[in-house]
Amino acid sequence: MSVAITKVEQPRWYAFEVTVTREAREAVEYGLIEAGSSGTETGTTNGPLILITGYFDRLPDTERVRNELFEALRIYDLPNSSVREINLREVEDRDWLAEWKKDWQPVQVGRFIIAPPWLETVPPASAGGSSEAPIVIHINPGMAFGTGTHETTRLCLKAIEKYFRGGSFLDVGTGTGILTIATAKRFPEARVEACDIDPEAIAIAKENARSNNVGDQINFRVGSVDNETPSADLVCANLTAPVIVELLPLLLGVSCGRLILSGILDSQIEMVQSLLLELGAADLEFNSDGEWFSIVV
Ligand code: SAH
Repeated sequence: MSVAITKVEQPRWYAFEVTVTREAREAVEYGLIEAGSSGTETGTTNGPLILITGYFDRLPDTERVRNELFEALRIYDLPNSSVREINLREVEDRDWLAEWKKDWQPVQVGRFIIAPPWLETVPPASAGGSSEAPIVIHINPGMAFGTGTHETTRLCLKAIEKYFRGGSFLDVGTGTGILTIATAKRFPEARVEACDIDPEAIAIAKENARSNNVGDQINFRVGSVDNETPSADLVCANLTAPVIVELLPLLLGVSCGRLILSGILDSQIEMVQSLLLELGAADLEFNSDGEWFSIVV
């Protein structure tokens, strides 16, 4: 007699382990997500090196991950030698995704609370601090850049809260769409537009806007700013310093009120500031969070 054993298919994960210097932590986490990782985990060690694991739901292309890591290091102004060791292994018998989801907590920025979609009710305690009702935004943290946990996104949300009073808003490099969703929820009458050169980001942003019930309010398109872009009362560009520098004349041209620039490292602030002055933008406000700066023009 033979017994048929049905093997239950376990979800299979691949762990891409990168040993790096401490200062490269954020760059490597970012690079792994850009390479398609569903999420990262950072181990704690006492020495100068740390282990960062990026989890992938399918076998990642090592060359691609490597390229994304080096690209991320370049953006963060760090040497390639920050990455000391790379190792790929299969993860068995572990519901990594469930464990990872358990650890996610909502992030509060002013009146906005950014929560993962599986946290349907946000604990009232996290809504404290402000007399106004909190505005909850649901974003899947694994999806793309812009999950609310990053300093550069938080700087933008704070500036939007401070300066936007309705009218029109343009988000250049929308990622998950987080900034437009926040603006549309806060100002249901506002005209909200967003662009991103990455078609995948636009698809995700549209889906996020729909699931946050502001899908009809936001106009998303694949692309960037150009001479045809209609101007807006508030323009937000959370990009990287080299891209900001390249787009600066266009960004200033499309802002008829204020312009928020974010994604600038402290080592890059002077370069952006001197170009702003050269272009005649004199009234500048600087804000920082960790090593990250934003400039409101
Ligand atoms: N606005 C989001 C995401 C910022 S990440 C937040 O604040 O969290 C930056 C995004 O800009 C990425 O999605 C990237 O695809 C996009 N991007 C990069 N260069 C761009 C350009 N020249 N024009 C428009 N979008 C760009």
